[in-house]
Amino acid sequence: MEIVSSSDIAEKLCRQARQSKQIISLVPTMGFFHAGHMSLIRWAKEQSTMLVVSLFVNPAQFGPDEDFDRYPQDLERDARLAEEAGVDLLFTPEARDIYPAGFSTWVEVESFSHFLCGSKRPGHFRGVSTIVCKLLNLIRPHMAVFGQKDWQQWIIIRKMVRDLNMEVDVPGRPTVREADGLAMSSRNAYLSGEDRNSAPHVYQGLLHVRELFHSGQTKIEVLENLLLKYYRDNLPQAEVDYVRIVDAQTLGTSRQAGPGSLAAVALKLGETRLIDNILLE
Ligand code: AMP
Repeated sequence: MEIVSSSDIAEKLCRQARQSKQIISLVPTMGFFHAGHMSLIRWAKEQSTMLVVSLFVNPAQFGPDEDFDRYPQDLERDARLAEEAGVDLLFTPEARDIYPAGFSTWVEVESFSHFLCGSKRPGHFRGVSTIVCKLLNLIRPHMAVFGQKDWQQWIIIRKMVRDLNMEVDVPGRPTVREADGLAMSSRNAYLSGEDRNSAPHVYQGLLHVRELFHSGQTKIEVLENLLLKYYRDNLPQAEVDYVRIVDAQTLGTSRQAGPGSLAAVALKLGETRLIDNILLE
């Protein structure tokens, strides 16, 4: 495995790989790998002959009061895990290389970026789409793999790729969970003992709303209120950012839930913001 921080060198290696007919897949990450990252990486390995993983804590997707400065990092461990999983190129760029002085071009997927997580994190998805656009232009992979835990992010990247005619597949992979149901996330490392013990309720609430849907309740307003009530009852210390039931593909809202609906939640336990989602079908 090569570890490369220069974007010029990464671009050159990937250009050579493409010329020699390699199938390139890219898994963009912010590092501090857990089983969720590793499932994406292992799956991408099976789809390609050259596997590139990027590891970049992207300043442009963090708000001024967010956790950019304390985002967990362990490059040595990540590199070991990546090598064991058969990664060919670990791309670890510096912010000054990605956003040199005078950088002024941003990519914004307008229709999807301002609600759900976008409403509480202004500028977040602009930062995400810009970095992913740059990575796709540098690496030029045949496929870029994303996790469905960050469902809105996945949909936004797919939309960007369609709108800008980028020639890349963007498969989404299922959320990997802890044994108690908590969606794996690098940010789980921030949870206090007590909050970690109650955090599985985030997913339990989603399972509860899916059960209500399966037993015949399809009114979105009712389902959203019952989900909110679940969190008030079971996670009284949580600060709920949103609970929403939306169309999984368009992220649009309507009055009735159907098999293509997605229930999504974002809430804060202490200082830790957790997100999760479930398809109702
Ligand atoms: P991050 O390092 O948090 O930016 O995540 C990098 C990629 O891993 C993104 O595509 C995430 O959606 C994906 N990912 C994060 N957590 C999980 C998880 N629990 N299961 C599956 N994919 C995940």
